[in-house]
Amino acid sequence: MTPFFDHLRRKVESGARISETEALELFASTDLLAIGELAALANQRQNDDRVFFNVNRHINYTNICVNRCTFCAFSRGVEDEGCYTLTLNEILHKAAEASAGGATELHMVGGLHPSLPFDFYLEMLATLRADNPKLHLKAFTAVEIDYFSALTGLSPGEVLAELKRAGLGSMPGGGPKSSAKRCGSGSARRRSPASAGWRSSKPRTARG
Ligand code: SF4
Repeated sequence: MTPFFDHLRRKVESGARISETEALELFASTDLLAIGELAALANQRQNDDRVFFNVNRHINYTNICVNRCTFCAFSRGVEDEGCYTLTLNEILHKAAEASAGGATELHMVGGLHPSLPFDFYLEMLATLRADNPKLHLKAFTAVEIDYFSALTGLSPGEVLAELKRAGLGSMPGGGPKSSAKRCGSGSARRRSPASAGWRSSKPRTARG
């Protein structure tokens, strides 16, 4: 272990907070094993052997995506066999099933659909929130937020504020890989909503 990680280990063991400079250095480090060891140590100190989990249901509202990342086995084009987009009623039905089965959370992500309007997602959240006030709504990858931003002309912060107002509780931890510039080459065939013709496409309703 390097002197830097030795220093951090002593801080973690004593319960001291790391500084902003140290956090940035840690963020830039590629020593995953050392970072993992420190994370395990911090977790053990905080939580001992306790683990926490929730019961959730995944709902993927559409697998149609304009990005078509080369590593993605989930996405389809609008003409492809196996492509689908759930109606709002189908989503509500799945949520009701989940709630009846004891779920405490919905985990919802999907492809970057070429013609669903932003209002569809707001309505989905608001209706789910009204129907299932006890279900936590975790939804949208970072690349979806980026896409909604390009779609609406709102900043990512404004998009998130709208989604939160509609009922969004949190976001899952996936997706930024597809919008990060340094990872972009080779990972996605089409990455920009505007260049994919999104803004000029005609929204349609997906209500069933
Ligand atoms: S943006 Fe997401 S859903 Fe779309 S192709 Fe990439 S990984 Fe798949």
